[in-house]
Amino acid sequence: MADRLEPILPGSYLGILGGGQLGRMFTQAAQSMGYKVCVLDPDAQSPAGSIAEKFIHADYTNSAALKEMASLCASVSTEFENVPAQALDELESLGVFVAPRSSCVSLTQNRIAEKNFLASWKSETNIGPAPNFVIEHDADVAHVPADLFPGILKTARMGYDGKGQITVYTETDLTNAWAELGKVPCVLEKRMDLDFEVSALVVRGYDDAVAIYPIAQNVHRDGILHISTVPAPSLKPIQEKKIIAAAKTLIRKIDYVGVLCIEFFVLKNDDIIANEIAPRPHNSGHYTIDACVSSQFEQQVRSMARLPLGDTRQLAPVSMLNLLGDLWFQGNSDQAQEPAWDKVLAHPDVKLHLYGKSEPRRGRKMGHINCLGENLSEARQHCSAVATELGIEP
Ligand code: ADP
Ligand code: MG
Repeated sequence: MADRLEPILPGSYLGILGGGQLGRMFTQAAQSMGYKVCVLDPDAQSPAGSIAEKFIHADYTNSAALKEMASLCASVSTEFENVPAQALDELESLGVFVAPRSSCVSLTQNRIAEKNFLASWKSETNIGPAPNFVIEHDADVAHVPADLFPGILKTARMGYDGKGQITVYTETDLTNAWAELGKVPCVLEKRMDLDFEVSALVVRGYDDAVAIYPIAQNVHRDGILHISTVPAPSLKPIQEKKIIAAAKTLIRKIDYVGVLCIEFFVLKNDDIIANEIAPRPHNSGHYTIDACVSSQFEQQVRSMARLPLGDTRQLAPVSMLNLLGDLWFQGNSDQAQEPAWDKVLAHPDVKLHLYGKSEPRRGRKMGHINCLGENLSEARQHCSAVATELGIEP
């Protein structure tokens, strides 16, 4: 095709908006393939910025910073769904290949738009969102269908790791919760009877090829991902097939180029609900670094560089354990203490990843551990052994 762009090859600069742990692991993958990386992040203590060839410390909407990034990078991606669409548009107007595009990222920034999108394709994917009702005005509260209680009120924007969510049992609770969330646009979702949670990590290339990883089964603790296990121990083959088909359909419907993660709920009655979409590599996909032919970060590099996608094949069963800052403050101590890494590193099939964050804080993602095994039960045993040795409830 005459208007197809050439791939961007090693030696070139790739740009990433956001320099947290996802940006850092992207940077590591890109560098190991021979690319140089330019990170833009408003935080001076950026884990990715500290290892990138070029770190632009500026706000996402700083025009001079975006121009500087565009002058270096032929392609830019994001590690962060709340990056302003305006920044992505500005880069595109400067001639940069932006993957995913701003329209894709915007869709996932707003839960209302996201749920509507999921509902609009339900007839093709056979998986819809949880029953929900949008709350934007005081008067909306009185119109909530009674069967949405008990429900979870979620802010439309900026929620993550369970933040910006309140469980409500009655209309009075709802009125109070909406006030507590500052009367910003919200969506009230029926609280579903979850059996377990899974996520689908799917990638689409510039050439329209779509690749999907094995589905991960996820356990959350206090709203934050705790453990992901792959292959998903509780998922029935027929459910897996349905989720894979839905994820592949959705990534094309969004016309998305890059790595996308879709979270699903599997209910006690075996039904499946689509929960939310992240327009980037995902915490539940960190297992791919050690357990798959190509990691999710390599796929991010490949898709933004317009290369063919890598193989998503899994090479070993795995359980990933998240390491939060709480681990540094055991025994109610206010003084941060380095965890016993020697115990973790004593296991030959356990892979430690730390994100280079200087300050541990409770609830902050500091690293993760991929526990491999000959089979699933061995991987899970390694995971619970390591968790116990570190003093984390497995
Ligand atoms: P976040 O953006 O914070 O990840 P989610 O919508 O994924 O927000 O919700 C966080 C967690 O809360 C989910 O992983 C799930 O455990 C629980 N949850 C969210 N919505 C529902 C629901 N409708 N019914 C039951 N549990 C839910
Ligand atoms: Mg979530």
